[in-house]
Amino acid sequence: MPVPAKTDYNTRTSPIRVTMLGATGSIGQSAADLIARNPDRFEVVSLVANSSAKALAEMAISLKAKNAVLSDPENFEILKGLLAGTGIEASAGEAAVLEAADRDADLVIGAIVGAAGLAPTMAAIKPGRRIALANKECLVCAGDLFMAKIAAAGAEILPVDSEHNAIFQVFEAAEPDSVEKVILTASGGPFRTFALKDMAQVTPQQALKHPNWDMGARISIDSATMMNKGFEVIEAYHLFPIESDQLEVLVHPQSAVHGLVQYRDGSLLAQLGSPDMRTPIAHCMAYPRRMEAPVQRLDLASLGSLTFEKPDLARFPALRLALEALRSGGQAPAVLNAADETAVAAFLKGAIGFMDIPAAVEETLNAFAASGEISAAGSVEDVLNVDRDARQWTADWILRKAA
Ligand code: NAD
Ligand code: MG
Repeated sequence: MPVPAKTDYNTRTSPIRVTMLGATGSIGQSAADLIARNPDRFEVVSLVANSSAKALAEMAISLKAKNAVLSDPENFEILKGLLAGTGIEASAGEAAVLEAADRDADLVIGAIVGAAGLAPTMAAIKPGRRIALANKECLVCAGDLFMAKIAAAGAEILPVDSEHNAIFQVFEAAEPDSVEKVILTASGGPFRTFALKDMAQVTPQQALKHPNWDMGARISIDSATMMNKGFEVIEAYHLFPIESDQLEVLVHPQSAVHGLVQYRDGSLLAQLGSPDMRTPIAHCMAYPRRMEAPVQRLDLASLGSLTFEKPDLARFPALRLALEALRSGGQAPAVLNAADETAVAAFLKGAIGFMDIPAAVEETLNAFAASGEISAAGSVEDVLNVDRDARQWTADWILRKAA
């Protein structure tokens, strides 16, 4: 990659113009908190959310946004009513989201969840613009296309995902050949110590309760299956100039060390911090400088010890499937994500069990590999077609299973 040009927005006298895609979610709210604490430094252009009109209107008013957009037009009248008389523009629908992503801004925070974020985040890639990327699905589903567009546009990508942000902070971009390996840490999630037979019985409520991080529903379930870590390996492969066999996952239950880079002189550099996304978000917002983030400082003495272990691919088959999808290449990671999104939604509705999530993903990947539909994508449309077909295949598998 992508040695990002160090655009130093901090030297400017006018505020940094920010657009947020996925403003009302967990990442969006953390970013909003940092913006609210620095009203002179940031100016909000557009805030985009899916359907939560009330949360979006409240945020737009408190951050003095110019524009608030819902991707789902159903609640548009509610949004319009809530913003009446404020001077804040309201719009809805997919075209309005793309228009908001395209609108002049210096920094776009990409925090939509799922493959739904692909088209809007792609639309936000423009010359000279900084993309602070949380939506890992952009890189999982369309990493080559996404990174090629960043390079062609002369845009800058900064990783929000905590592991990648950590790696970015310690990756000597000027000397990529000196890097031996890149290590992503994983908390192991709520079932790290569970026996395989007990994991089949876990409920959505248990799976949603992450031991260290407070996140949206989908990524919380993906953390419990460790699919999230698999996605993150794929994400890292696209972000950094390394080969897939240089990437490793290390389970580290305390979530204090977020990522590490090992160099050929034997040095192992790591970034540490409390498990609070406001640190990596602040790092992206102030880069290449630093800004104040109101996070609890990591107190190593009170933590006492940090432990590390190898991941168990037998109990966490989702991680194995993601690593295999990365090796298969082509559209396998897009199929992986589509099947997982569908299976996670079914699990949250109580339609399938926890271990059916990786089973559904594996069945879908096998079916697509067998049908040869997994060659490389030439365009975002190709990705969205495979995404749609894979969702349908997984949904049918789930129906057959229930029958
Ligand atoms: P979330 O579910 O809390 O929020 C998702 C946001 O996206 C909401 O604002 C929602 O309205 C919006 N959205 C959903 N579908 C949309 C659509 N079709 N069009 C426009 N907006 C839409 O999710 P989150 O936990 O904040 O995660 C967001 C992204 O960041 C995910 O890709 C996740 O993997 C990544 N991420 C999250 C965390 C975390 O701590 N939460 C950490 C690292 C990476
Ligand atoms: Mg992460």
